[in-house]
Amino acid sequence: MSETETRLNFIEQIIEQDLADGKNGGVVATRFPPEPNGYLHIGHAKSICLNYGLAKRYGGAFVLRFDDTNPSKEETEYVESIIEDVQWLTGENLSDRIRFASDYFEQMYVFAEELIKKGKAYVCNQTLAEMRDNRGTPSIPMKPSEGREFTAEKNLDLFKRMRAGEFNEGEFTLRAKIDLASPNFNMRDPVMYRIIKAAHHRTGDKWCIYPMYDWAHGLEDSIEHITHSVCTLEFEHHRQLYDWFLDNLDDIWRPHQYEFARLNLTYTVMSKRKLLELVKGGFVSGWSDPRMPTICGLRRRGYTSEAVRAFCREIGVAKMNSIIDVVKLENAIREDLNKHALRRMGVLRPVKLLIENYPEGKVEQIEAVNNPENEAEGTRLIPFSRTLYIEHDDFMEEPPKKYFRLSVGREVRLRYAYYVTCTGFDKDIDGNITQIRCTYDPTTRGGTSADGRKVQGTIHWVEVNSALGAEVRLYDRLFTKENPDDPQDLADYKTYMNLNSLEIIANAKLEPSLADAVAEQRFQFERIGYFCKDIVNSDNATPIFNRTVSLRDTWAKIEKKG
Ligand code: ATP
Ligand code: MG
Repeated sequence: MSETETRLNFIEQIIEQDLADGKNGGVVATRFPPEPNGYLHIGHAKSICLNYGLAKRYGGAFVLRFDDTNPSKEETEYVESIIEDVQWLTGENLSDRIRFASDYFEQMYVFAEELIKKGKAYVCNQTLAEMRDNRGTPSIPMKPSEGREFTAEKNLDLFKRMRAGEFNEGEFTLRAKIDLASPNFNMRDPVMYRIIKAAHHRTGDKWCIYPMYDWAHGLEDSIEHITHSVCTLEFEHHRQLYDWFLDNLDDIWRPHQYEFARLNLTYTVMSKRKLLELVKGGFVSGWSDPRMPTICGLRRRGYTSEAVRAFCREIGVAKMNSIIDVVKLENAIREDLNKHALRRMGVLRPVKLLIENYPEGKVEQIEAVNNPENEAEGTRLIPFSRTLYIEHDDFMEEPPKKYFRLSVGREVRLRYAYYVTCTGFDKDIDGNITQIRCTYDPTTRGGTSADGRKVQGTIHWVEVNSALGAEVRLYDRLFTKENPDDPQDLADYKTYMNLNSLEIIANAKLEPSLADAVAEQRFQFERIGYFCKDIVNSDNATPIFNRTVSLRDTWAKIEKKG
C-alpha cells in the first residue's frame, strides 16, 4: 500500500472532519517540539513523521520548534543535531521553518501579565517542596498560598520584580489561580514561572524567570497558529490546563491538543535521560554510536530515511501504549536495502584457497551482477586468480550431514566464477588451518556447468592480491532483555546490557571495487548482510564498514531453538 492508500489514523480522521466543518479557516498547521536536551531517537522519528506527514498530506504548514524553556539542561550541540536529524528524516531543508520558544519569552510575559491583571495568576512565596507538601489528596484540597488573596496590582508589582532579578531562585513563583480542589492535580494552581539564574543558550542573561512547560507550550502553539498540537499520551492529563490557559487569554489563535501513544521498542531504552547516561558512562562511543536508537545512530548504522519512514508508517498511530518488536524496524531496513543496495563480495574471516590447477600469474576478470533486484544497476568485473580468500567457516575438516560448503572431496560453486573441488588443506604447527587446496573446472566459467552437473553450495570469495583490507564492525542489540525499562523490574536497566553488542573484525578482505565506496554508501556483502561505510571515520586509511543488519533475523532462529 502506498502512503495515501493506507487507512486514516485517528488524527487524520479528526483533521478531515475539521476541514469538512471549515474549522481553522481550512488550514492545517503542525509542529514538532523537541526540547534541546539530548539527541533525537526513533520515538521522536514517529512524532516527526506524524506531524510532518500531516502537514504534507493536507497541504499545511509544519515547523520545527525548539521548546527551549529550561536553560539548565539545554545546549547548542543538541539544537544542531536535532536540525540535522529532522532534515535528514524528512529529506527537506527546513531552515525557514525553525522556531525557538525562547523567541517568544517577551510575548509570554505579556500574556502572564494579562492573567495577573484579570486576577487569574498570582505570585507565591512557597518553595516547590512546600507546594508538594501542601498539595493535598483527591479528597483534601491544596493549602492556599497567601498570594491568592493579593490584589492584582501587588501581584503585578511582585512579578515585575521577579523579572528584574530582585529575588533569589526558589523565593517566588508565578502561579495560575484555578482550583485548589480539582481532581486533576495539574489544575491545582500550577506554577507558570520560576526563577532560574542561569544563562540560556540563546537569550543569555536577559531572563531570570523561565516559563513552565504547561504554560509555555500552548502559547507557543498559539503564537505559531498551530491547528493540531499533537503530543504523546503522558500529556493527556495536561490538556485541561492547556485549554484553561488559552481560554483565559483574549484575542489569541486557539490551537487544540491531541494525544497518541509513544513508540516503545523491544531490547531498547528510549528516554533521553537514559541515552545520555549510556553516553556519559562510556557504554557506547557517543550519541551516534550505531547501536544507539538515536536517529544519527541509526543513520550511521546504515539505516536510510526511507526505511525509518516506512517503519513509522507500518506501526501506525493509535492511542494504546504498546511495545513494538525491534524486528519490525530491522525488517524495514532489510526490505529497503534488498531493493537498493549494491551487491559486493567481502570475506570477514579469511582463509586462503589455492586453486592448484589454475595457471600461476594469470588474472582474469569475472562479471558479477550489481543488484539482481534492479537490472539497471548492471554488472562489474572482479579479478580472479590462483589464490583467493574464502570465509573460514565455509570449510570444514569433518563436515556434518547437510553441510554443503567445502570439505575434502566436495565440489562447490565460487560465486559468479567456477566450480571447485576441495583436494586438501594445510595446517601450521599449532593445528590451525592455513590454506585450503582445490582444483577448478575451467568449463564452468560463470558458475554454471555445461553438463548440467549441480552443486549444492555457493560460496563467496575475494582475490588475494587485489583485496581491500577493511575493518568491519558487527553490531548487536544493546540489551539482552526484551523490556530493559520495565517499571516492575527493580534492577537498573544497565544490568541488562549486552556485553557482546560490538564485535570488531580488523582484517576483513573486500573486493577491490569497495575502495571507491563513499561515506554512508550501503552495500549487501553477499551471504553476510548489509553494510554501510562509516560516516564518522570515512577518511580512515583502513576503511570501516558497519553492519546495518544481517540478511535474515538470526535472533528468531535462536529463540525458536531455545
Ligand atoms: P524522552 O521522554 O525520550 O526523554 P521527551 O518527550 O522528553 O523524550 P521531547 O523533546 O520533549 O522529548 O519530545 C519532543 C516530541 O517528541 C514530543 O512531542 C514528544 O511527545 C515526542 N516523543 C518523545 N518520545 C516519543 C516516543 N517514544 N514516541 C513518540 N513520540 C515521542
Ligand atoms: Mg519532554
